[in-house]
Amino acid sequence: DPRIERISKAIRVIPDFPKPGIKFQDITTLLLDHKAFQDTIDIFVERFKDKNITVVAGVEARGFIFGPPIALALGAKFIPLRKPKKLPGEVIFEEYVLEYGSDRLEMHVGAVETGDRALVVDDLIATGGTLCAAINLLERAGAEVLECACIIELPELKGRARLAGKPLFILIEAD
Ligand code: IMP
Repeated sequence: DPRIERISKAIRVIPDFPKPGIKFQDITTLLLDHKAFQDTIDIFVERFKDKNITVVAGVEARGFIFGPPIALALGAKFIPLRKPKKLPGEVIFEEYVLEYGSDRLEMHVGAVETGDRALVVDDLIATGGTLCAAINLLERAGAEVLECACIIELPELKGRARLAGKPLFILIEAD
């Protein structure tokens, strides 16, 4: 896909952030290139438009940037999966370990209905812990998770293996 190269070039890599040795993939520069941003959304929508997705779940914080335009284009609802103590209503939560420590994701009770067909969106998969927690939350609430979608995969960290066999769609591999 010729669009991928422009998307890839628009992502900035910042060395030693948030700590020494980490090469941070910064998607904020992708957002500055509206053509590349639009192409990113279009590629995901093309991939998922015939899959009867009823829910797009976005992981805080960058899943909140890419998830909603995908949900609107698919005619699906959007659910934010948030860091602790941000959601005002009753929540269920999953604890997970990530590259830079441990955390938990929370989801509002009632956001998902039994039989919902879900797509999970985030900017990047590293160890896969975050997406694994997202999948568990959605499935506990009665949704079927069809696929996960990220812009960037760090394949060396083998995060794909933690997704309980769920397909993972990515645009770019990085190291
Ligand atoms: P994982 O749980 O180890 O797969 O880490 C993925 C989570 O950490 C995602 O929510 C990402 O947004 C975030 N993350 C880890 N590394 C990076 C990076 O280099 N750039 C942007 N986000 C990152």
